[in-house]
Amino acid sequence: MDISRRIFDLKQTTRGRVLQLRLLEKSQYWSAEEMERYQLEMLRNLLTESAANVPYYRRLFKSLDFDPKTDLRKLSDFSQLPLMTKPHARTLGTDLRNERKNIPHIIERTSGSTGEPFVEHIAYTQMAMEKAAVWRHWKWSGYQFRDNVATVRSYIPTDGQPLIKDDPLRNFRFYSAYHMDDENTEMYVRDMLKWSPHYLRGYPSSLEILADTAERMGAKFPRLKGFFTASETLTDAQRVKLEKVFDARVFDWYGLAEQVVSANECGAHQGMHLNSEYGLWELEKRPYLNDNERMIVGTNLRNHCMPLVRYETGDIAVVHENGKTTCSCGRTLPLIKQIRGRKDDLLTAIGGIAVPSVNFYSLFREYDSVKRFQLIQHETERVELRYVADELSAADSESLKKELHERLGAGMKIELKRTGEFLMNSVGKRRPVLSLIGLSESSQTQSTEDSTTSITKIDTGVTNER
Ligand SMILES: [Zn+2]
Repeated sequence: MDISRRIFDLKQTTRGRVLQLRLLEKSQYWSAEEMERYQLEMLRNLLTESAANVPYYRRLFKSLDFDPKTDLRKLSDFSQLPLMTKPHARTLGTDLRNERKNIPHIIERTSGSTGEPFVEHIAYTQMAMEKAAVWRHWKWSGYQFRDNVATVRSYIPTDGQPLIKDDPLRNFRFYSAYHMDDENTEMYVRDMLKWSPHYLRGYPSSLEILADTAERMGAKFPRLKGFFTASETLTDAQRVKLEKVFDARVFDWYGLAEQVVSANECGAHQGMHLNSEYGLWELEKRPYLNDNERMIVGTNLRNHCMPLVRYETGDIAVVHENGKTTCSCGRTLPLIKQIRGRKDDLLTAIGGIAVPSVNFYSLFREYDSVKRFQLIQHETERVELRYVADELSAADSESLKKELHERLGAGMKIELKRTGEFLMNSVGKRRPVLSLIGLSESSQTQSTEDSTTSITKIDTGVTNER
């Protein structure tokens, strides 16, 4: 990392730390009234700024005869504003950006299911909140500064660089998630046995590979206090596997590259706390969702640079069946049960019906011999199942195909391939359910065996959990 980037990162981290100590350590215990008062003030500032300096919102509020200074008396007044979808945001382009050019910001690019990138400008004030929320999350797990954190993500070595890299300041050790074949992963485990991490951090898919390998090797990490997972939906099966193999608990984080909202798990492990100071959560019922599922609609409260108001994330939250929103840890931040699926984790059945990934996770739970899997939809009528298994009988293969046909339509061509070569995206995620429809395969993904990447992306620390 070059020195200017390092200094920039240290500054942002410090701002985040200050915000955590000054605000988040207290606000996690606020009453509902105190939190609503805070959110209302932040929201009014955001919308007032948007009305004055963001062309799209200036036009919108005018057409609705909505003046945030006078018409926003309580939070529920906000729901008269329309939802914003990602395709709409993309077409609006610069009309969503603040005309004041002097707001310091970074640029985040995300690729959506259609493959077109979406560019979000994120103000430093929000970046500080992102860092602060992650600091708080880690603190909830018992993390202490300079605990050993083995990070299996966010480091992509270029030609000639080693697969393992140290960040001595924070005591992080990075392992390339790009190169996790059997031999390298065994080497990672041996290295970790010597280094003895307090935490393992990574995508659920990368930590799952590590867990399978450690189990095979009989490796134990006696100092391990927990896992930090993020950026992919953590399945129940992955959680069970990690906790069983390593005898430590998972602390999951949910966030988006657009940074509209975030949520994370505390030490009571009763669900995910919503970070109410970070963004405004709306959990909406939809006719196509199950009773306890909600569409996540989010509004970041600090990003004046490119506000996304009532942004429909496409991600699904699961609420507790009994309506429980409080946690035994005593923090007042509302609780949901879990995140069920992310918008990109969908396959399309014959006839165009979207089938969320959870349908497949529950199916594979019934096949013990399948250790890991990846379902790839290459075309509207072709889905490939890649899997790692000691053995899969002919009868099991047939019944798996039958079950997949039931979910995806009898006309779907289903191909089974036993291999550990899973497709990865540009930052090393191996999503278990992946649709390539409308994407150019070579530009979006690459095989785990292909190490000729030219991408250099190094994680900058306690951040970037999306
Ligand atoms: Zn809690």
